[in-house]
Amino acid sequence: LTVLGLESSCDDTGAAIVHKRPDGTAEILSNVVIGQAELHAAFGGVVPELAARAHAEKIDIAVEQALSTAGMGLRDVDLIAVTAGPGLIGGVLSGVMCAKGLAAGAGLPLVGVNHLAGHALTPRLTNGLPFPYLMLLVSGGHCQFLIVEAVDRFSRLGGTIDDAPGEAFDKVARLLGLAQPGGPSVEGAARSGDAARFAFPRPLLDRPGCDLSFSGLKTAVLRTRDKLVADQHGLREADVAHLCAGFQAAVADVLAEKTRRAMLNYLSLTPERPALAVAGGVAANGALRSRLSQVADTAGAEFCAPPLNLCTDNAAMIAFAGLEAFGNGQRDGFDLSARPRWPLDDRAPALLGSGR
Ligand code: ATP
Ligand code: FE
Repeated sequence: LTVLGLESSCDDTGAAIVHKRPDGTAEILSNVVIGQAELHAAFGGVVPELAARAHAEKIDIAVEQALSTAGMGLRDVDLIAVTAGPGLIGGVLSGVMCAKGLAAGAGLPLVGVNHLAGHALTPRLTNGLPFPYLMLLVSGGHCQFLIVEAVDRFSRLGGTIDDAPGEAFDKVARLLGLAQPGGPSVEGAARSGDAARFAFPRPLLDRPGCDLSFSGLKTAVLRTRDKLVADQHGLREADVAHLCAGFQAAVADVLAEKTRRAMLNYLSLTPERPALAVAGGVAANGALRSRLSQVADTAGAEFCAPPLNLCTDNAAMIAFAGLEAFGNGQRDGFDLSARPRWPLDDRAPALLGSGR
């Protein structure tokens, strides 16, 4: 079975071909991502109207490139999968309309995929993880703990009540005059910093459960910066390094502790092959990865961190999630709609009562 996947929910236009072998394993034949970083750079964030127009312009090109890289034509494809939400509605619409056109033109079945399910199912594409596994989805727009129980069953154990960590990394970088995206800049600066130099809060650690908060942490960095600037009439490079190290350590501490709690909840299901998987751009952070891998080790669980290009937005994950949904009997009609909001546990009854 060969699927063409489309992704256009944020600021990356993606098209990918994924092939499912008879033994059930999947292979990525092509994975095209056309980014829009330069387009939005001057605005300090993604501008929805610009993003929508760029998706509409680029999606056909992405599809052509994905097919030609895979050495295929549309006639070799068995299924069209597309992100139907959540995301910026203009972009999602571009993808959904393109997918409908392709499916109608070639007489192919169509499957609408939840973008978050795409992220959450990635460890099955890369590592063939069996259900159920614990997933920390940690990106520019999201932060949540999920028990991935089936292709269409996700139990949310908790998540951020305000900012996503990626957003916080980006804001801290902006506060300190570092380049965007903030994650890699802050991580780089933190290498020469002392995490203990400035004390930052560990939000919500004193409360039970797996919910997280990052907005206070960002404000704490702002206050400390302002005080340094007032006291010494400027920021030294060493201060920036200490601030970054302190901030990153606080994020890693909080995420590690909440992951430990989520793990206890997950292990109560007595999974046969316990595993902790991460996805999303912040999963690229080395300090965080090593902390999470320790948490997994301590719990006797496998740690699965997909390569970065499959952690950030891409169409291969959408193609793969589409394959899984198709195998599960999902078929969508031409009335498939684009959804700006679409919580993952929408049609999933909560499995667990505790830990919420
Ligand atoms: P979503 O997937 O939630 O819609 P998004 O597509 O914007 O959001 P991603 O592309 O998954 O998010 O990730 C981008 C985020 O990851 C940015 O906020 C960026 O700063 C962060 N990031 C990237 N590399 C690192 C790193 N090494 N350390 C910390 N954060 C990082
Ligand atoms: Fe994403």
